[in-house]
Amino acid sequence: MRVIRTIKEMREHVNKLTTQGKSIGFVPTMGFLHKGHESLIKNARSDNDIVVVSIFVNPLQFGPNEDFDRYPKDEEHDLNVAEQASVDIVFLPGQSEMYPNEQSIRLQVVQRTDVLCGRNREGHFAGVGTVLTKLFNIVQPNKVYFGLKDAQQIAVVDALIKDLSFPIELIPVATVRENDGLAKSSRNVNLQQSERENAPFIYQGLQRGRQLVIDGEKNPDKIVEEVKHFIQNNSNGKIEYVELLNFPELTPVTQVSEQVIVAVAVQYKRARLIDNLVFNSEGIVSVTIK
Ligand code: AMP
Repeated sequence: MRVIRTIKEMREHVNKLTTQGKSIGFVPTMGFLHKGHESLIKNARSDNDIVVVSIFVNPLQFGPNEDFDRYPKDEEHDLNVAEQASVDIVFLPGQSEMYPNEQSIRLQVVQRTDVLCGRNREGHFAGVGTVLTKLFNIVQPNKVYFGLKDAQQIAVVDALIKDLSFPIELIPVATVRENDGLAKSSRNVNLQQSERENAPFIYQGLQRGRQLVIDGEKNPDKIVEEVKHFIQNNSNGKIEYVELLNFPELTPVTQVSEQVIVAVAVQYKRARLIDNLVFNSEGIVSVTIK
């Protein structure tokens, strides 16, 4: 496994691989790798000749009062995980390598962003779009792997690839969970014990929403109410939002008749958790992005 820290070396290496006709699968991450990341890597490993994982905590996507400073880091652990998962290249640029100067160009995301996390995290998806545009240009992957845990990010990446004509295929990967249902997240380490104990109610709430659809409920307001109630009554976190929208367009629905997402964000003392379920009008979990 090769660890590359500069854009120049990464480019030289990519040029070599492309000349040899190798396909590149790319997994962008912010590090502190867990089983969710490993699942993306596994998918990339089975589809491509070369697997590149980037580890970069992108300051542009954090708001002034968010957790950039306490975002967990463990480079040694991450390199071990990557090595075990047969990653070929870990791209690990420093802050000044990615952003040597103040940005003169800022990307603006104008759709799929004024809902869910985008509503309260101003500039977040512009920051995500900017760093991914840079990473896509540097790594030049054939396929990119993103987790459905961050479903709005997938919706934005889908738009980014299409609108900016990146010759890249987006592969969404199912959310990996703890045994009790809590979605794996690098931020889970920042939960207090009692918060960790009742955080699985988030997923149970989402499942109750889905069950309503299976039982024939089509009214989005009723489904959202049920999910909200359940989480509010059982969790000691503060609900930031529960929303039901079309997926991946993230537009409002008046009736559950197509593929939809039910998504939740809950704020705990030192961690903000998100989770979601994407399902069709029968409540069957499946994700199609055309
Ligand atoms: P992050 O390091 O949190 O920026 O995440 C990097 C990638 O891993 C993103 O595409 C995430 O959606 C994905 N990811 C994070 N947690 C999970 C999970 N529990 N299951 C599947 N993918 C995940």
